[in-house]
Amino acid sequence: MWLKIVGLDKQEIIQLLKTTGEERTALLKRAQEVKVKETGNKVYFRGLVEFSNICAKDCLYCGIRKGNDKVLRYDVSDEEILESCRFAWENRFASVVLQSGELSSPAFIKRVDDLLKKIKQISNGELGITLSCGEQSMETYRRWFESGAHRYLLRIESSNRELYYKIHPDNDTHSFERRIEALGSLKTTGYQVGTGIMIGLPFQTYEHLADDLLFFKKLDIDMCGMGPYLEHEDTPLYQYRHLLKTKQERFDLALNMIAVLRLLMPDINIAAATALQAIDPAGREKALAIGANVIMPNLTPTAYREEYQLYENKPCLDEDAELCRNCLEARIHMAGSEIGYGEWGDSKHFQSRKKMERR
Ligand code: SAM
Ligand code: SF4
Repeated sequence: MWLKIVGLDKQEIIQLLKTTGEERTALLKRAQEVKVKETGNKVYFRGLVEFSNICAKDCLYCGIRKGNDKVLRYDVSDEEILESCRFAWENRFASVVLQSGELSSPAFIKRVDDLLKKIKQISNGELGITLSCGEQSMETYRRWFESGAHRYLLRIESSNRELYYKIHPDNDTHSFERRIEALGSLKTTGYQVGTGIMIGLPFQTYEHLADDLLFFKKLDIDMCGMGPYLEHEDTPLYQYRHLLKTKQERFDLALNMIAVLRLLMPDINIAAATALQAIDPAGREKALAIGANVIMPNLTPTAYREEYQLYENKPCLDEDAELCRNCLEARIHMAGSEIGYGEWGDSKHFQSRKKMERR
């Protein structure tokens, strides 16, 4: 099974997710070889701007859920967002990610639309833009696509319906079916589509995780961002913390998940999630060394970061963008990878998918 890639079945996946010791070392090494062969040895930067923590949803795990009244709500001003984007462009990051809580008011939709056009304007059309603003109508996804967004991240969080409703309220605002539909709409619109899950959730089993990986494969995603679940004391899921694996176990399992996904989908883009760094200061670099090829340096103005705490101990709260960039650069070079400065680093999988569709 060790040399096998792409066609792993569920039982084989479960076995790989559970590996430890020498077998695990071999799995991680194999994933890195597959990554380099299929996508090259470059790491691509996506400057992350968490532009608003105002959210209409109440996901049971998330620190900025609507029901958490300890959070001070903010909207980063357009000028500050554009300044962060300009920093990304001038430092040859080539792409930014605009992320926020989920709102679907006409004012929010228009604001994002205007921002997309302005970001394109200030960067001579050069900055690539990923959005991560939750579930929206097909019409909104199309409008944003036409205004310049070309990638979209929408984690399914768990592909198992039962588990999904253990970590979300069971009501119309948090519909599992609508989340799946939204992923379909994104694909139809023409985005490079990214999804992902949290690893080590209470009630989650190896079987769920194997099904998640097979779900990604079936959906034929272009990008993936998945990281460890981390508890937050002001959320309802905190009451189940006694069911959790240790943080180190969640971290190790997250790396195994990335490695197995790299074997299953060799040419997609896989992000090294920030949550890895909350457990291990070198967590993201470790992910880059075993199959991930994208990293999202935080460009949110530091004044707002305290209020975008999805989980406890979120890293880089007080580091400004320049510092963040320098420390990352050194660590990536140390890990033996090159940075794809000035390159969009689009998912190779997306490029082949589009070529096939044109035939
Ligand atoms: N609101 C949008 C959405 O939910 O798709 C985008 C922003 S949301 C904060 C981004 C991601 O943060 C979610 O998809 C979720 O997986 C992750 N997240 C939230 N709470 C978390 C936690 N306690 N531990 C780890 N990841 C978490
Ligand atoms: Fe809102 Fe996203 Fe957090 Fe859910 S995960 S509460 S949609 S910000």
